Amino acid sequence: MPTTKILHDLSLFGRSLLDFVFPRYCVCCGSRLALLEETLCTRCLEGLPRVRFFSWEDNDIARIFWGLVDVQRAASFFHYTRHSPYSRILFALKYHNRPEVGKAMGRMMGEALKRKGFFEGVDLIVPVPLSRKKERQRGYNQSAWIARGIAEATGLPVDTQSVVRTVSNPSQTSLDEHQRQENVRNIFGVAHPERLEGRHILLVDDVITTGATMKSCAETIAHACHVRFSVLSLAWAGAS
Ligand SMILES: [Zn+2]
Repeated sequence: MPTTKILHDLSLFGRSLLDFVFPRYCVCCGSRLALLEETLCTRCLEGLPRVRFFSWEDNDIARIFWGLVDVQRAASFFHYTRHSPYSRILFALKYHNRPEVGKAMGRMMGEALKRKGFFEGVDLIVPVPLSRKKERQRGYNQSAWIARGIAEATGLPVDTQSVVRTVSNPSQTSLDEHQRQENVRNIFGVAHPERLEGRHILLVDDVITTGATMKSCAETIAHACHVRFSVLSLAWAGAS
């Protein structure tokens, strides 16, 4: 028997043993995960309300940036609706201390979009940063974990140092669109413009609602250096 086959069988055996001792559950429906399932059970994965944009250059997310910064491509993985079972993905990631959910979903999204050429020409992934205070409270930046999953699928590097959030702004959740824009004005800074200069950056966030946060982040980067952008979020809470 070839060594790789033996190692594969051993790792499956190890995993099934781990599953026996520490059962894993689907983050959406709570059913027990089978050996080869990860984060979502097969049924929930098949039912994931995927965002299907016909164009990456002209869609509802790309349009948010028109006239502000040069966005090459924009996409999102699934539609976010409050109270939908799929909203539990974001809850687990943001509020239930489950960063690995972000990594697994980022990998799935990365693999799906890689097949369609979404990442062609992209140089590096920049997750939208949290303030130091917020990151300390949560223990991690959820967008950085999504970015690490995308990196596993694509081999692209992740840069979590060059862009920083200088202001810990209040939550956007209860604000209208205008208030959201005001709330995130001038909250980002670029610590290492030389690392970004001339590159094609993929900005990654967990969810896009009005796009105010990403827009503010992209504008700050665009003022500091000359870059091209693509944008990607795990979830899209917009109307379409
Ligand atoms: Zn499920």
